[in-house]
Amino acid sequence: MQAILQQIQSEAQSLFGKGQVASYIPALAQVPPRQFGMAVARVDGRTYEVGAAHTPFSLQSITKLFAFVLALKLVGDELWLRVGREPSGAAFNSMVQLETEKGIPRNPFINAGALVITDILTTRYAHLDIALLGALRRLTDDANLSWNARIAKSERDTAHRNMAMAYFMKSYGNLVNPPELVLDNYCRQCAIEMNCAQLAQATLFLANQGRDISKDGHPGEQFLSADAARRVNALLLTCGAYDAAGDFAYRTGLPIKTGVGGGIVAVVPGKATVAVWAPELDGKGNSVLGGFALERLGELVDWEAGV
Ligand code: GLU
Repeated sequence: MQAILQQIQSEAQSLFGKGQVASYIPALAQVPPRQFGMAVARVDGRTYEVGAAHTPFSLQSITKLFAFVLALKLVGDELWLRVGREPSGAAFNSMVQLETEKGIPRNPFINAGALVITDILTTRYAHLDIALLGALRRLTDDANLSWNARIAKSERDTAHRNMAMAYFMKSYGNLVNPPELVLDNYCRQCAIEMNCAQLAQATLFLANQGRDISKDGHPGEQFLSADAARRVNALLLTCGAYDAAGDFAYRTGLPIKTGVGGGIVAVVPGKATVAVWAPELDGKGNSVLGGFALERLGELVDWEAGV
C-alpha cells in the first residue's frame, strides 16, 4: 500500500496547475496551490500516508457529512421531511431547484441541504460548533481539533448566496431559526480544519458498520447504527461530489465527499477510508489531483488481497 501511495503521489505531480484554488471565499484563495497529501486508514488499524498528510486544511463541504450524521442520529427519518436524497445535478450552491421544489433541497450535501441540516442542529445545540467539534475530537482521538476563525469570518463576510438560500427556505417554512444564526453556525462548521490522517481516522466508522475504530486499531463506540452507516454511504456515492457525483462514482466506485478546500474523503466499505487533499479544484469545485488519486487507487489496489 505504501508503494502504491508513493506511485500515485509521483504520477499526480503532472496535474499541478490544471485546477485553481477556490477564490470565492477570500481566505481560501491564499492557500498555496501545489500541495498533495493522502492517507489510508484500514479497519484493522493499519495506516499509510504520503505527502502533506499532516498539513491541516479547511474541510468545507466535507463537514456536511459529519453534520448530516449528527442530525440523523438526533432526529432520524424525520429529517427526510425537510431535505431530499436525490443527486441535484446542479452546482453545490445552485438556487434553481429550490423554487420549483418549494424550498426542499435535493440532498444534505449541497449547500441548501446543509443549511437545513445546520438548522436542525442549531435547534438542538446552544453551541453547535462545540457539539460538532466534540464529536469530531472523539472520532479523531484529537482534542486539539478546531475551526479556523479567519476562514469562518472570510466566508461569513461573503456568504451572500448562502444567505439568500437560507431566507428563501425560511419563506417556505423550511428554516426554523433566524437565517443569520444558521449562517454563523454553518460558516464555523465549514471552517473546521483537519489533515488527511485525521480525516481518514474520523470516517472509519462508515467503513466499519457504524463502529468507530481507535487509533491503535481497537473497536470504539458504535457511532452510528450499521443500517444508518450503509445508507449514509449510499448517499455519499450518489450525492457526494455535487454535479460531478455520477462521474466520481464511475471513476472511483466509492462513496465520497468532496469540499472546496480541496479535500476528498472516500469510504471502502468493510475495508478502509481514504483521505486526499490537493487544493487545486476543477470547474465543479472538486480537487483535480484528489479525483485522480482516488481513481488510480481503485485501479492499483486489490482490497480483497489486503495489501
Ligand atoms: N463553505 C462552502 C460554501 O458554502 C462549502 C462549499 C464546498 O465545500 O463545496 O460555499
